[in-house]
Amino acid sequence: MWKRYLLYLIRWQLSTPILAPLVAFGTGTPVFDARSWLWSGIANVIGGAIFFWVDKFIFTSRKLGSTWHVKENIICVACGQKAPRGYRLVKSANYDRTQGKSEYRCEECSIKKAEELTRKGVELYK
Ligand SMILES: [Zn+2]
Repeated sequence: MWKRYLLYLIRWQLSTPILAPLVAFGTGTPVFDARSWLWSGIANVIGGAIFFWVDKFIFTSRKLGSTWHVKENIICVACGQKAPRGYRLVKSANYDRTQGKSEYRCEECSIKKAEELTRKGVELYK
């Protein structure tokens, strides 16, 4: 987690060369004035420190979308075949299989199951 946080802060610093000249231009100071670069860099540290958590929520929150699990080397619960990859819908807006047994399906059976759930009105991606 902290490695990602550090990389994220470094990523934010990559926008400093874009922000600093614009700040300089907007404030009427010379483009290579150290103050616009320093304050842009500081602003990007603050922005990165805050938005790491905001972005983490947006991209990982279960409240904003459905959760699918993918597992390698499974035996499909529907057809009994070995598959290199299996899928299961865990939770969506109106579907919840967070409790109980995990059942993985091969790609073909997963597509059939998704169609079946869709016919029943399950939201697969909300
Ligand atoms: Zn299958």
